[in-house]
Amino acid sequence: MPALRARLSATVAGMGIAELAPRLAEIAGPDGVITDPQELRTYECDGLTSHAAVPGIVVLPTTAAQVAQVVRTCVGHGVPYVARGSGTGLSGGALPRTDGVLVVTSRMRRVVAVDVPNRRATVEPGVVNLAVTRAAAGDGYYYAPDPSSQQICSIGGNVAENAGGAHCLKYGFTVNHVLGLELVTPEGEIARLDADRPGYDLLGAFVGSEGTLGIATEVTVRLLRAPETVVTMLAGFGTVDAAGGCVSAIIATGVVPAALEMMDALAIEAAEAAVACDYPAGAGAVLIVEVDGPAAEVAEELAAVRELAVQAGAGEIRIATDPAERAAIWKGRKSAFAAVGRISPAYLVQDGVVPRTALPAVLAEIAALSAESGIRVANVFHAGDGNLHPLVLYDRAVAGEAERAEQVSAEILARCLAHGGSITGEHGVGVDKSAYLPRMFTDADLDTMQLLRCGFDPRGLCNPGKVFPTPRLCGEAPGHRTGVHPLVESGQAELF
Ligand SMILES: Cc1cc2nc3c(=O)[nH]c(=O)nc-3n(C[C@H](O)[C@H](O)[C@H](O)COP(=O)(O)OP(=O)(O)OC[C@H]3O[C@@H](n4cnc5c(N)ncnc54)[C@H](O)[C@@H]3O)c2cc1C
Repeated sequence: MPALRARLSATVAGMGIAELAPRLAEIAGPDGVITDPQELRTYECDGLTSHAAVPGIVVLPTTAAQVAQVVRTCVGHGVPYVARGSGTGLSGGALPRTDGVLVVTSRMRRVVAVDVPNRRATVEPGVVNLAVTRAAAGDGYYYAPDPSSQQICSIGGNVAENAGGAHCLKYGFTVNHVLGLELVTPEGEIARLDADRPGYDLLGAFVGSEGTLGIATEVTVRLLRAPETVVTMLAGFGTVDAAGGCVSAIIATGVVPAALEMMDALAIEAAEAAVACDYPAGAGAVLIVEVDGPAAEVAEELAAVRELAVQAGAGEIRIATDPAERAAIWKGRKSAFAAVGRISPAYLVQDGVVPRTALPAVLAEIAALSAESGIRVANVFHAGDGNLHPLVLYDRAVAGEAERAEQVSAEILARCLAHGGSITGEHGVGVDKSAYLPRMFTDADLDTMQLLRCGFDPRGLCNPGKVFPTPRLCGEAPGHRTGVHPLVESGQAELF
């Protein structure tokens, strides 16, 4: 299926939207509203730079009450609005509307409370992921979900995307760590959702809803006690196949490492060029395996994992116990996405999931696709979760290469689905993958999800055009759809 790409027109920008600016300035203060065309361009895309739209207005509220007033103002004028945290999303979830308001949470960065006895922290949505751990570290606690973007991405964005990370293999995704939240509903009311209340799990529905069910204004997260011992192992393998075999063997023994990450030769090459991470020379793939917990348990698990790596054909194996050595091992992995910029002028970050047992087969298929198409693909991923992140490299200066990269990227997803996987593991659907949803869900499934969405957002103004390929108007009979992507319908995008 051809990818849906938004080619956005500037001509629809500013249709009456500028008239909202004075009212928004009354709410958020004159320095809390951006209307200057150059400054607005700063917000035209998130991490998915192939989709861009200059927002009509940007507003930067500082309190939940301000967010509520902003939303009510938008609702009162029938204006769509989109929440944005740090803008690191990779599926276009925070892609603004030229005819709408972008509500940016970057001035809501207060750590409200660190409640050690109850092992929880309450923070505003713009608080950066790593800042939660920093706030709790003095008491020996930390916040477990750790996306590679954790130094910049916001908790609000993490909640909306149900963000994952290297340590989610053992500790679970964001949804497993959010205990409650305050939100501004799409109607502009301030409400709470808590995990410990009876009734439907609306908190669970909100986490991962990609900004379509309201704007989180305060989030309470679980804190975990920092483990007694942490050991990181780096193992070099001759081939991706051998490293994949080691992953399967580790999982099969029942050991659940805190993290189990893989990089292939091209990803290693990029990381070496960018941060000189000094991974085993000539390796076709490396595995980073981290085990944590009580010292005795860690020693036992490490011995088991090391033995399995040797049996799977690992060459060099390094063990790091002190924080500096461990950080040196992680340096290459953590910088891998950006590092690819060193070996290619442009690249697509793909995010698909396969059952772990299918990893070797899917990786072989990706290698074959790459060879057939002449498009290089670097693989760096959460191997323990079967969550692939193929980085599809291309050069716009080479005629047709960008299109071929899109095709390879789409075909990789098709292969993930063919093996019983998913079109996204942690980066969300956004605008990038909405066209693929019908490959995973029936029309009835999608209608049911949309009914939930309409329950929260009957006017369809809260981040419209995201997630669903063919949105239905609230109040329409199930099964009826417009059949047209909303960006296309509104004249802001065309299909190609
Ligand atoms: C280098 C790099 C590495 C990455 N690694 C990972 C990784 O390991 N794991 C992973 O899961 N992701 C990863 N990501 C993707 C991204 O960082 C995550 O999706 C992150 O959760 C987005 O947070 P953000 O604050 O940047 O959100 P944004 O990009 O600003 O927004 C993302 C979505 O959240 C919505 N949103 C934002 N704030 C709110 C709010 N307060 N209330 C409701 N909705 C809101 C937006 O509307 C949008 O739909 C990576 C990205 C980059 C660039």
